[in-house]
Amino acid sequence: MSRNAESTAFRSALEVIRAVEPRVADAIGAELADQRESLKLIASENYASPATLLTMGNWFSDKYAEGTVGRRFYAGCQNVDTVEALAAEHAKELFGAAHAYVQPHSGIDANLVAFWAILADRVESPALKKAQVRQVNDLTEADWFALRRELGNQRMLGMSLDAGGHLTHGFRPNISGKMFDQRSYGTDPATGLIDYDRVAEAARDFKPLILVAGYSAYPRKVNFRIMREIADSVGATFMVDMAHFAGLVAGKVFTGDFDPVPHAHIVTTTTHKSLRGPRGGMVLCGPELADQVDRGCPMVLGGPLPHVMAAKAVALAEARRPDFADYAQRIVDNAQALAEGLLRRGTTLVTGGTDNHLVLLDVSGYGLTGRQAEQALLDSGIVTNRNAVPQDRNGAWYTSGIRIGTPALTTRGLGTAEMDATAELIHTVLSQTTPGANADGTPSKAKYVLDPAVADSVGKQATDLLAGFPLYPTVALD
Ligand SMILES: *Cc1c(COP(=O)(O)O)cnc(C)c1O
Repeated sequence: MSRNAESTAFRSALEVIRAVEPRVADAIGAELADQRESLKLIASENYASPATLLTMGNWFSDKYAEGTVGRRFYAGCQNVDTVEALAAEHAKELFGAAHAYVQPHSGIDANLVAFWAILADRVESPALKKAQVRQVNDLTEADWFALRRELGNQRMLGMSLDAGGHLTHGFRPNISGKMFDQRSYGTDPATGLIDYDRVAEAARDFKPLILVAGYSAYPRKVNFRIMREIADSVGATFMVDMAHFAGLVAGKVFTGDFDPVPHAHIVTTTTHKSLRGPRGGMVLCGPELADQVDRGCPMVLGGPLPHVMAAKAVALAEARRPDFADYAQRIVDNAQALAEGLLRRGTTLVTGGTDNHLVLLDVSGYGLTGRQAEQALLDSGIVTNRNAVPQDRNGAWYTSGIRIGTPALTTRGLGTAEMDATAELIHTVLSQTTPGANADGTPSKAKYVLDPAVADSVGKQATDLLAGFPLYPTVALD
């Protein structure tokens, strides 16, 4: 695609928007400038292609399309059918899945669809059968009451939050924790790795309906074949939430035992993290759960977003091209280079390294909390987020960790040499930052002291590093 066409498209769009609400047009322009200038190490973010972005801004947004392809509750959905079917087809081919449901608006929504598909399959369907009725409306009041109680009395086993699990895997602040009786498995305190024998023991003990694997802050591969064996041994449905690492599965970096799709009963994901598509979610499954999954809307989802499904089709088509596999491999090469660069400079890493796209720093070795480290890095133009480490002594708010990831910088084109330079910048900031004190003299978990000259100098070096790798090089707004 020519530089010209993409620049013209975005410039024209801004002109049209500016005529209505110039402040929004300005904010859109400012956001591009900000993103171009920041050294983005947020492990869950990326930069979608211009084609993906442009696909979201049109009249597909005007359509209601409740239902599934060819079976809509609204007339006139033939073009929505085209893009939804295309997105599903690309997803099935890319991941080798029997069924793909591309309507979820986000990762949380995809998980809700999966949970309720499993509950419908394992709890509701048997109850209907037992009562010899076809659907819930035909149950007696007493049977309905009993079924509702049973639906609310199921168990889930997932990865603990401080080991890198996700809030949506049965934790109390999220709806999943209010729906399920949850227990979690952690990691080995000595190695930081998942101990599959302990997971098996917890499963035998607890007998969950659902065993969940997947994470947002675990820097290692998970053996999904072993996890499936554990699920099978206790009759649990095995669900994998690959929201973070879907790009590594798509790019065939995670294969065999480490590819969740052939091993899980159901797989959920986001489309905007390492997969590099529009903001959204997706569910993959075999034929057994397909009908239940397709009931996601209106079960737990609002009407589908046709403009986003169209963008999913575009992004998934991109992910099927050979250069995406190369991109996925570079994500991991970069994460490993970043990890090695940090280790060489004396930084403590959870599990001592990485085999995926993310690195988890334990910053207590620098005498800092995650919050202090996150802010000091931000002052220096480096965007990260604080994150709990296993057995974190500073709790979930201040934390002792910093999570960094390479999908975004890899999209910009930075390579292993730049990762070593990035490790140097991070180490410089963290080693020059000291904890601050509260007004009463006690040590603060939030305040910190960093010489502004150091922050400035690192910020300039970060800008220089990025200058060689322009973001959206085909897009010039002026
Ligand atoms: C990011 C993430 C989600 C939530 O995705 P949203 O699109 O923000 O709703 C769910 N599960 C995991 C493991 C994640 O990393």
